[in-house]
Amino acid sequence: MIKKILSLFICIAVVLSLCSCSFLSARTSYEGDLIAHFIDVGQGDCILLESQDDFVLIDAGEAEYSATVCQYLKNNDVSSIDYVIATHPHSDHCGGLTEVIETFSVDNFITVETDQQTKTWLNVLYAVDNNNVNYIDAKVHSTYTFGNSSFEIMGPYGKSYEGYNDYSVVVKAECGNTSFLLTGDAEKKVEHEMIENGADLSADVLKVGHHGSSTSSCNEFLDAVDPSYAVIMCGMYNDYGHPHVETINSLNARNIATYRTDILGTVVAVSDGSNIEFFYDNEEISVTTSKNDTSLSYIGNKNSRKFHLSSCSGAKDIKKKNRVIFDKREEAINNGYTPCKTCNP
Ligand SMILES: [Zn+2]
Ligand SMILES: [Zn+2]
Repeated sequence: MIKKILSLFICIAVVLSLCSCSFLSARTSYEGDLIAHFIDVGQGDCILLESQDDFVLIDAGEAEYSATVCQYLKNNDVSSIDYVIATHPHSDHCGGLTEVIETFSVDNFITVETDQQTKTWLNVLYAVDNNNVNYIDAKVHSTYTFGNSSFEIMGPYGKSYEGYNDYSVVVKAECGNTSFLLTGDAEKKVEHEMIENGADLSADVLKVGHHGSSTSSCNEFLDAVDPSYAVIMCGMYNDYGHPHVETINSLNARNIATYRTDILGTVVAVSDGSNIEFFYDNEEISVTTSKNDTSLSYIGNKNSRKFHLSSCSGAKDIKKKNRVIFDKREEAINNGYTPCKTCNP
């Protein structure tokens, strides 16, 4: 009898420990018809669209993030990818694609042809060639289906541009009544071109162009898209000051709920065809904070219980999981945090 009770206890303990393990590992499954994963790759873009076990991958961040991206895809049961889209040949978008193409079975590769000759970009093209991936030259109005969703190429309209950003393949993904506009690094010139060509840019979710830079997201464009939600993909303390305050102000002025990967980590938007729900890594941080706080005023360390100015070198070393953001100084004090002696916040 005692043996039986003991073995029952052991069984329960094993089950509990398995449960706690799965709680600790990143959430990997979402229920929805179209799931858009805005994967945190620091300063870069990487978006996985999932619909009924069909997958579209748009960019894969810098090469140094390729292991992170491949692992994320594996965690989400990706084995083959229907479409890989390289928005444009900058390393913060295409760098990780080579390893993705070599690791997963990829059916189609979509991009816009440019004269880019960097080693990073040529490696992507070699991988496409070596793995017999079908190469598709992005054409405006082309539409592709995956699962019970679809995406349409919305831009670029032009054939030649000054910078590579404007060659960005702009994609609008749709599922039921919900839509996502994903613009890569397209800048204002391309935004205007799409408006002038009468493109239907309206979307529920906008992946803000060029990491929230002021070179994108002009007023006319934001009015045309008229999103309820925005996602900004950028790295914390990036060298470019992304997202720029002008962009944040434009989004705030329109009351657009903004999700930032530099603050929230990976952001996942789940559509059931009529509604969209958001999930993100750092669940303790409220979206209102990330939306209104462009300077990340005060940053606390959950371990040391100290808080810093965002400019303090001590703040930059805090691991993402230990980071907490305060809008006001009093908020940090009231939560029992003490000011850093170096930056004197
Ligand atoms: Zn970029
Ligand atoms: Zn770029």
